[in-house]
Amino acid sequence: MQHPVKGRVRLASTPVRLWCRIFRPQDPRGWADYHCVTARNGLLWLHTHGLARRIGYDLEITDVPRELRREALELMIALARLARSRGMLKPDSDLTATLGGPGHGIPQTATLRKAPHSDREHGALLRLVDRGEPMQSRFPKRLFASWLLALADGGKEPRQKEALCRKALAIFPGEHCDGLAGADLPDGQVNSPDLQERTNLGAYIGLTEALCAQRRFSEACGPAAEAIARCPGWAARYRDRLLQSSPVRDPYLQFWKDLNVSEIVGRLRGAAPAPADAPRKPFAFGRRPKDPYAELLARG
Ligand SMILES: [Zn+2]
Repeated sequence: MQHPVKGRVRLASTPVRLWCRIFRPQDPRGWADYHCVTARNGLLWLHTHGLARRIGYDLEITDVPRELRREALELMIALARLARSRGMLKPDSDLTATLGGPGHGIPQTATLRKAPHSDREHGALLRLVDRGEPMQSRFPKRLFASWLLALADGGKEPRQKEALCRKALAIFPGEHCDGLAGADLPDGQVNSPDLQERTNLGAYIGLTEALCAQRRFSEACGPAAEAIARCPGWAARYRDRLLQSSPVRDPYLQFWKDLNVSEIVGRLRGAAPAPADAPRKPFAFGRRPKDPYAELLARG
């Protein structure tokens, strides 16, 4: 698709690009032109010109909401830097990397698909989509949710972290996991790429941390309950670690101490589902079946 190059199409100005080329040759802003074009649907098409010389292909992200323009540019720059260090990009390859750098929590996952442009200017573009999704799958919301968390982990103030986590939840509220998914994660860690891709767990827990840092403990129970409803199996492990590391001294920790997973699952999912892979124990006539989540909590 051809487009005019004027106004705000260039995300990094020519002086910035030249300055980086001369004084910061390791900065991807000097390696390419970064274009942002508003599509007919009002969403943004971000793509590069010139990266192919460095990493084999140029990159694009389609259907980007306008409010994520800056974060999308930062994501492309981080990916270009990573590709330069890891080697050339290839179509239909999967990517798992901590694009925010070491110590920036949850890794990002994506797949690169050859884009369908036939014009000479945009003929060698790779489209970023969510891992395993087809080229037509539009905006990679799961990738962006984890990318916003990486930005939130970068030493942000609690209010900034709260805003980024809320943005991540607005674009991807996460799906519910069945049964005991995540129960095997040591210490209830929240940086599992698989669990993050399905549930956006990191955004809920990041939001609780940002709220607790502002001493808004009761408010933090809301996103914690949403995380528990999505990953009931994980919740027991996380609760153990939380209560072992801190004495109960505020309403948030009290919430975890009094945790009733089945009640939360039933309330927030609309009806308490039977966990698909929960351990089933035979029970005699007249005896009530045991609550699998209660058993998990008691197991410790
Ligand atoms: Zn262009």
